[in-house]
Amino acid sequence: MKTSIIGWPRVGANRELKFASERYFRGELDRSGLEAVARELRAAHWRAQSESKIDFIPSGDFSYYDGTLDLAANLNAIPRRFRELKGANDLDVYFAAARGAQSERGDVKALAMKKWFNTNYHYVEPELEDDVEFQPNLDRIFQGYEEARALGIKTRPTLIGPFTFLQHSRLVGTRTLDDFVDGLGAAFRAIIAEADARGVEWLQLEEPSVVRDLTVDDRKRLTRLYERATAGERKVKILFQTYFGDVRDCYAEIAALDVDGVGLDFVEGRKSLELVRTGDFLKNKTLFAGVVNGKNVWRNDYARTIELVKELRQYASEVVLGASCSFLHVPYSLDPETSLPPELKSRLAFATEKLTELRELSELVELAAPETSAAYRANAEARATRSAEDAGIRAATNALAEQDFIRTPAFDERAKIQRDVFKLPLLPTTTIGSFPQTSETRAARAAFRKGETSQEEYETFLRSKIAECVKLQEDLGLDVLVHGEYERNDMVEYFGENLNGFQFTRNAWVQSYGTRCVKPPIVASDVSRKRPITVKWSTYAQSLTDKPVKGMLTGPVTILNWSFPREDLSLKDQAFQIGLAIRDEVLDLEAAGIRIVQIDEAALREKLPLRREDWESEYLSWAIPAFRLVHSKVRPETQIHTHMCYSEFSDIIEQIDAMDADVISFEASRSNLQILDSLKASNFRTQVGPGVYDIHSPRVPSVDEIATTLRTELTKVETKKLWVNPDCGLKTRGTPETVASLTNLVAAARIVRAELN
Ligand code: GLN
Ligand code: ZN
Repeated sequence: MKTSIIGWPRVGANRELKFASERYFRGELDRSGLEAVARELRAAHWRAQSESKIDFIPSGDFSYYDGTLDLAANLNAIPRRFRELKGANDLDVYFAAARGAQSERGDVKALAMKKWFNTNYHYVEPELEDDVEFQPNLDRIFQGYEEARALGIKTRPTLIGPFTFLQHSRLVGTRTLDDFVDGLGAAFRAIIAEADARGVEWLQLEEPSVVRDLTVDDRKRLTRLYERATAGERKVKILFQTYFGDVRDCYAEIAALDVDGVGLDFVEGRKSLELVRTGDFLKNKTLFAGVVNGKNVWRNDYARTIELVKELRQYASEVVLGASCSFLHVPYSLDPETSLPPELKSRLAFATEKLTELRELSELVELAAPETSAAYRANAEARATRSAEDAGIRAATNALAEQDFIRTPAFDERAKIQRDVFKLPLLPTTTIGSFPQTSETRAARAAFRKGETSQEEYETFLRSKIAECVKLQEDLGLDVLVHGEYERNDMVEYFGENLNGFQFTRNAWVQSYGTRCVKPPIVASDVSRKRPITVKWSTYAQSLTDKPVKGMLTGPVTILNWSFPREDLSLKDQAFQIGLAIRDEVLDLEAAGIRIVQIDEAALREKLPLRREDWESEYLSWAIPAFRLVHSKVRPETQIHTHMCYSEFSDIIEQIDAMDADVISFEASRSNLQILDSLKASNFRTQVGPGVYDIHSPRVPSVDEIATTLRTELTKVETKKLWVNPDCGLKTRGTPETVASLTNLVAAARIVRAELN
């Protein structure tokens, strides 16, 4: 049986591309230097796949920044403002579109960056101007293919497909999506003709957009795009590759396309099997079966996969074994992970190990008795090793009952009690938690981690930072203070390190966007709190002031969403275990005299299922309770805050309200405060702090600007429910602009407050 890979991690085993690009951005490496690094990486990646005997190796999956942006560039669809930068070559234009540019050449803002489906990868959103003319740069599109061929490796060129490209573009003129169909279809027709001319055997078009909820118009557009792209004779075979879910809305349309292969995801596509069982939509087509998980790090279940593949063979003329999605979303290799416990390591498979899995599976499915082979037995054995269950934790989650998720008394009564206790002014001012993390703080942490300074020295340093931060906030006149979060590098890693059950890797980086990578921890076993985590920092800060200092925690859903979850326990159970651990921390903070606790759920929306019909059953039904679990046991006078890093929650606004926090802050400043209308329309009960300025930019907002924003907010939010705060944490900002911005924020709040009396 043949094997196939959709895409490979681009940044390199040791993030070579990241470092080379950053040197290029700083002017320390020239273009040919950067290109040489990229070429070496591509060659190494093809060789690794070729040595693993993968039959369908992708080319064109490499990118200097992002694949969607690559396609825009290769179709001549980069907006004019970037192309018109003075004296800029094609690579300058490309990076300007990705990152913005501010130099003597001009001053342009980058294209928007958005989350790629339900992953933590971000793509660059193309902007289509009315006069765009799609002209494929064919040499560029097939550059990887030719490069690999010169190395003696046959590849399958891959591109984001026309449907997904359009669905993910922002239209900035007056034309509609349908107006672009002819031009884009023709461009793909030209690409297909070129593939023919170059003797390409298979061409892969990646179309993950078909796994979302589609309208009738979307489905028609899909059909029309492919009618145009595949018109006429051709020899090259086309693979219509989907991933991240199933194609339940459009499998009839896909069945009717003139393509030679269809790639379906049998990991996340819950209905994929059901769909192929229902009919003959794969007759005469090759099925590229996505059976090896491209999003998680655990070994494949060979027994199950073999059985699945045997069934799939009944429905398609040929079945190729493949990955559920690009390996972009998993780390490169387990090799550097020498400090992971061996029993855990034996259960893991990163991208490189997944190649081996594919090859082994391709051999095993042909055997009459695969269970007798060594590879099969090794797999079964590794999967059978389980980390020991923690009886106490299991008992605790099993014993959870309704009242564990219900805080009493109800919201309104608590609000009254809290008003009396805190006596905060109207429009109370606060921040989201972190204060600027300067190089001084990072250096102190690094020195401590390397053992160059003692625990005591490090903690003394942190206390001095906290004291400075509290003093600053008092001087600024903020009403509710924070300790500044100097002790943490990352809001998930810091908590994970203080919880049992999490494992940290050395080098398991995954690209998040451009040159930025994240290193998600692995949930390896049952989770509980090792020790109090933040109590000493919060109580120290509180000891320095009479104003309330917020305890600052990361919520269970965010911790889980930014980790690699287990596959041997439901997400719900994992979230509840983390929830109980964080609940211990909340109760300790309360017992230590902390009167306000903020539980951040920055990533709550991120893993919302791609289809609306799955939102509740697959996700919200446990994610919202997991949050409620964390705070349900606090006293009525303890105020619970939460923070979310987005404002697009109009469609789940009731569920956000049902988290039953007392106050929520979120990012509204960049989305023109549209969310306010939904808050009003839904009678939102929770008090809100819809960030009054954008912390993602170093710009200092004026007093007037903030006051105007507040007045607008007051037209939609009840006076007694409105808080005044920046739209996210300040850790990436510098101190001078932070002080200036917060000074203006407090001044604006005072002005608008005075107008209310
Ligand atoms: N409390 C965190 C901070 O201020 C929240 C960060 C986030 O939402 N990403 O940094
Ligand atoms: Zn945020």
